[in-house]
Amino acid sequence: MDLSLNKTQLMVQKAIRTFAREALEEWANVLDRESRPLPRELVAEMGRINLWGIQAPVHCGGAALDSISYAIAIEEISRVSAAVGLGVTVHNSVCLAPLLTFGSPEQIERYAADLASGRKIGGFTVTEPQAGSDAASIRTTAVPDGDGYLISGQKAFVTNGGTGEVFLVAATIDPRKKARGIAIFIVEKSMPGFEVGKIEDMMGMRGNMVSELYFDRVRVPKRNILGRPEDGFKISMQALDTGRIGIAAQALGIGMAAYEAAARYASERRQFGSPIGTFQGVAFKLAEMKTGLDAARLLIYR
Ligand SMILES: Cc1cc2nc3c(=O)[nH]c(=O)nc-3n(C[C@H](O)[C@H](O)[C@H](O)COP(=O)(O)OP(=O)(O)OC[C@H]3O[C@@H](n4cnc5c(N)ncnc54)[C@H](O)[C@@H]3O)c2cc1C
Repeated sequence: MDLSLNKTQLMVQKAIRTFAREALEEWANVLDRESRPLPRELVAEMGRINLWGIQAPVHCGGAALDSISYAIAIEEISRVSAAVGLGVTVHNSVCLAPLLTFGSPEQIERYAADLASGRKIGGFTVTEPQAGSDAASIRTTAVPDGDGYLISGQKAFVTNGGTGEVFLVAATIDPRKKARGIAIFIVEKSMPGFEVGKIEDMMGMRGNMVSELYFDRVRVPKRNILGRPEDGFKISMQALDTGRIGIAAQALGIGMAAYEAAARYASERRQFGSPIGTFQGVAFKLAEMKTGLDAARLLIYR
């Protein structure tokens, strides 16, 4: 079995690695230490190298790359900044991808180009304080109001919550139907009643404004429902299937950075007259780290 990367995948790896080292690395610690979002010019630069539309079709402004290239891009970014890796993967895999898969031509026309270019950052929000793994237990409601809905409720742990402008929001239109009563709405931050709550203080993730979101009778037109209203939960679960690959690639990038730092230190630090990496006890640990990372990478690619 040939497991080598093809020409395009190698090119993506080289380009994103170079960008991460040359443009992002100097920001990574600053963003985390100061809980700051990415500077706007860096967001724009990431748009120019297609990081906000990795798999989106070219006619929407994306790079139309394959899933392996997607995983490579997220790994390379996360190797330098886990927070930026999180923002990129959530934007691509659980906002833009479901929009392109389930959106009407009109919705795609309205939102895809802005998202794929990074002019607008996207998010996806199901989780609520009482609804984590049990995502069908959400309490955010969408009540019919003329040709639209009024959305009310609270969301938690929203990646890109502080910086994003377009969110896929899960809300229940019929609580009696549980999962089948959940619809996904495309909600814009500019809509009246939309408020960003507390920004979470998460180790290593402070460069992403993961936040609470509050909706107080936010009026959303019917044409902003993604897919069929009764399919919202299914759409969320399908979006999360792709999302998991991105989160795994993010974890791989974090692991690679930890491994590289450990290997570098083990070759520099000397004790008993030798680099500590030449002692078997340390070398075995490094070998195990690298083996685990290689296995994880192959699992992600598969
Ligand atoms: C950095 C970060 C970013 C996030 N971004 C987003 C986002 O953009 N949008 C969004 O909607 N959500 C987001 N989330 C929320 C995330 O999806 C939830 O954390 C996740 O759904 C789990 O919910 P919980 O944290 O409330 O854990 P809980 O559901 O309370 O689970 C706690 C523990 O119990 C275990 N557990 C739960 N149920 C079972 C069971 N039936 N059997 C065995 N074990 C079980 C879990 O595995 C876990 O270990 C984010 C979270 C983090 C940390």
